[in-house]
Amino acid sequence: MAHTIRVGQGYDIHRLVPNRKLILAGTEIPCVRGLLGHSDGDVVLHAVIDALLGAAGLGDIGELFPDTDPTFKDADSAKLLERALELVTRKGFTVGNVDLSIIVEKPKLKAYKPAMTHKLADLLGVGPDCINIKAKTNERCDAAGQGEAVVCYVSVLLIGDSPAQRSK
Ligand code: MG
Repeated sequence: MAHTIRVGQGYDIHRLVPNRKLILAGTEIPCVRGLLGHSDGDVVLHAVIDALLGAAGLGDIGELFPDTDPTFKDADSAKLLERALELVTRKGFTVGNVDLSIIVEKPKLKAYKPAMTHKLADLLGVGPDCINIKAKTNERCDAAGQGEAVVCYVSVLLIGDSPAQRSK
């Protein structure tokens, strides 16, 4: 029996500011600045959540976790991802693979990619070979390139548990 497959894309941007921790893909990265946000500002997990919700037809992160809700103030984005994954799983989907690009001028992320990959794999309940993290600069163009922000783009493939996931 053929499985339904669904693709989703996610995007997010957060400002880099002093006196905040830099947390990317649930992993703390040593840096003098961190990402501003209502939650912990994890731009990677936010984009992953949007990609998951998009693929499953469940809307977007702002609908699920409004930034006007005090519940989510300084929230651990890993917990938000857990909740989003629960909804996706309830619709009969499992994660096939995740491919993402982080646009950041500094710090260099190469040394942290294995830790981020394993953390994201754990959070999504997949093997690390299902996760691919790319880190890029923006050639000093725009906010990310000027080191004022970090941007993340994510593509996710979901696999449905039956062809019944298709609309009639
Ligand atoms: Mg965000």
